[in-house]
Amino acid sequence: ECAMRYKLAIIGYGGMGGWHHENIRKSLPEIEVVGAYDIREEMLQKASEKGLRAYKSVEELLKDKTVDIVTIATPNNFHKDYAIACLKAGKHVVCEKPVAMNAKELEEIIEVSKQEQKLFSIHQNRRWDKDYRIMKAIYDQNLIGKFYRIESRVQGSRRALHGWRGYKVNGGGMVLDWGVHMIDQLLWMFPEEVISVEAHLHNIFAPEVDDHFDVLLRFESGITALVEVAMNCLVTQPRWHVCGVEGSAIIEDWDGNGKIVTIKEDSEMEWEDEIVYTSAGPTRTMAPRPKHTTKEMALPEVSVDWANYYKNIVGVLEGQEELIVKPEEVLRVMKVIDIIFEAQARGCGIACRI
Ligand code: NAD
Repeated sequence: ECAMRYKLAIIGYGGMGGWHHENIRKSLPEIEVVGAYDIREEMLQKASEKGLRAYKSVEELLKDKTVDIVTIATPNNFHKDYAIACLKAGKHVVCEKPVAMNAKELEEIIEVSKQEQKLFSIHQNRRWDKDYRIMKAIYDQNLIGKFYRIESRVQGSRRALHGWRGYKVNGGGMVLDWGVHMIDQLLWMFPEEVISVEAHLHNIFAPEVDDHFDVLLRFESGITALVEVAMNCLVTQPRWHVCGVEGSAIIEDWDGNGKIVTIKEDSEMEWEDEIVYTSAGPTRTMAPRPKHTTKEMALPEVSVDWANYYKNIVGVLEGQEELIVKPEEVLRVMKVIDIIFEAQARGCGIACRI
């Protein structure tokens, strides 16, 4: 039996297009990347140097009967039309995030994928990030009790938005870039309704698009989630911080350093509830808790690999697995994104009910 069972072509052979090629070549023996299309001649040249067929047009790619799957990695505003054209040409489609510019565009794609009965999925690869999987394990294994407040942050300081990422027409800005990943992570972790969204976007250095945002989501069970992306932050905070009823946890970075602190059982009685004299004056409520009343735990171990995204695509095509990144889940994300922009456009960023 031939190991390479699926042939894949890439539309948009830039930073991420090249990454898809390399990642598949290294980790997915079932898939062979056979060709690429890009509007820039130099990228076609590069594709051909890497042993790919360089299609002169999208039509040429779509007519290539040997291609089973197309991965779309162009700037965001082109995703919808390419996705629909590929599905109509009988291809399965993997689309980069953000899947489209808004929820309505995604609904159009979903409609066509149903008509054509072809697989459609979105490369939400950050569902396989180590830091995120640790946080999800804390939640799934109930290690700190019921979650009520979580913070998810990505803070950079380089200021610059490169190329198309700085333009509104291309779907630039941080909400559509990191925001989409971070909101997808939260919505996949908490399978419950988002009942309100509050959003505050800034454009500090970028003239057209957001280069800092804070979004506060409230979930049906009462969990509030802060999502923050910064580009001009010179003193950073942890990647994740969470409060549960029985404990708190922190994940410092993408490598998954951090800790869990919970209350030691039966320790409550061992200390007297008296006023403590701190450098901020006398206080009962905010004085540090005696150390012997808490216990520190290591974060749970997780195993992660971005290649699992495509492994699942292969599993689905073979009828052996359920699709992990479902378009309907990403539609929920895009509905939240729409509301973020609506809230911003109102000028007050105020909470809206979905
Ligand atoms: P990029 O600018 O490096 O590459 C985009 C490529 O698309 C360029 O080579 C460009 O010439 C080509 N292109 C532009 N318009 C085109 C068109 N109409 N038809 C065909 N080709 C066209 O950008 P990038 O960083 O690779 O981002 C591409 C996509 O991947 C975006 O949607 C982005 O959000 C996504 N992305 C995802 C991740 C992730 O972790 N999942 C990371 C980076 C980028």
